[in-house]
Amino acid sequence: KLYNQVQDLKGNIRVYCRIRPFLPGQSQKLTTIEYIGENGELVVTNPSKLGKDSHRLFKFNKVFAPAVTQEEVFRDTQPLIRSVLDGYNVCIFAYGQTGSGKTYTMSGPSMSSVENWGVNYRALNDLFNISQSRKSSIAYEVGVQMVEIYNEQVRDLLCSDTSQKRLGIWSTTQPNGLAVPDASMHPVKSTANVLELMNIGLMNRAVGATALNERSSRSHSILTVHVRGIDLETNDILRGCLHLVDLAGSERVDRSEARGDRLREAQHINKSLSALGDVIFALAQKSSHVPYRNSKLTQVLQSSLGGQAKTLMFVQLNPDVESYSETISTLKFAERVS
Ligand code: ADP
Ligand code: MG
Repeated sequence: KLYNQVQDLKGNIRVYCRIRPFLPGQSQKLTTIEYIGENGELVVTNPSKLGKDSHRLFKFNKVFAPAVTQEEVFRDTQPLIRSVLDGYNVCIFAYGQTGSGKTYTMSGPSMSSVENWGVNYRALNDLFNISQSRKSSIAYEVGVQMVEIYNEQVRDLLCSDTSQKRLGIWSTTQPNGLAVPDASMHPVKSTANVLELMNIGLMNRAVGATALNERSSRSHSILTVHVRGIDLETNDILRGCLHLVDLAGSERVDRSEARGDRLREAQHINKSLSALGDVIFALAQKSSHVPYRNSKLTQVLQSSLGGQAKTLMFVQLNPDVESYSETISTLKFAERVS
């Protein structure tokens, strides 16, 4: 299939587009989504400004229409996650403006029922199920870390003392393979353990923020799952790592309006998202220099970007006409990295 050829050419980078449905009460709004093709084509248009060049075509590995369920989205993500048990490093991102469904895709709605679970709960659940059912001679151990990057500072979201200790980052050549060695590591044995930890993480993320949504839209949160498998016959050790990243909102902040803290936040977000774009672009081009060092985000994720690692980006769109210009800028970011 052409789809697979494209994927081979681009190496291990996949880009999926997911379109959020209109929310209750929004149903009378006009949509910018003109067409969704079977093979990842997406045509967007601004229906309130129809003109000659109004239609724009974008191409992804896959496009998920608004009605697609969490389960269906996960079905196309699962193979990637399973490769972590074979010792691969995997990184999954959600990119898009605030309100486009990043958190919904990665975590699900808050207080979610199992059927609305996002990628991260399903991923952990899947890893436990497979590692326990594989009647092989490999014993697996799973540990998680959860950090937030806010204004280029890394903070542990699972630390029991909520003092805002800033964490250093090590190069990935360190013997234990941890990019953020001082972030607390929590061994987990079941999905219930993970749910508990993630709730703590979400609560800590809100500390110091006026409103949870405010802060969470301006910081990157990274859930890192470390898997260690020991072959009981040979004693060989296999390591895999999964990064699940809910990025800060990509919306442009009006420079004439933002001041002080808000402006500083916006500049940090801008810088780190473009650094991420530059890294993925360099990898897609098979460039010999990959500029990991330009942001904390790319430094933390270095081991799961490039080399044998597999990367998946969810490009999240809000179909509302009012979001048209943000939608185009999100799609341009995606176009560059896919
Ligand atoms: P973001 O994290 O990008 O700011 P959210 O994930 O918080 O956006 O989504 C914004 C709102 O839209 C939330 O109320 C969320 O529950 C809802 N939403 C997002 N995606 C979907 C979806 N696929 N189906 C139903 N509701 C969704
Ligand atoms: Mg969010």
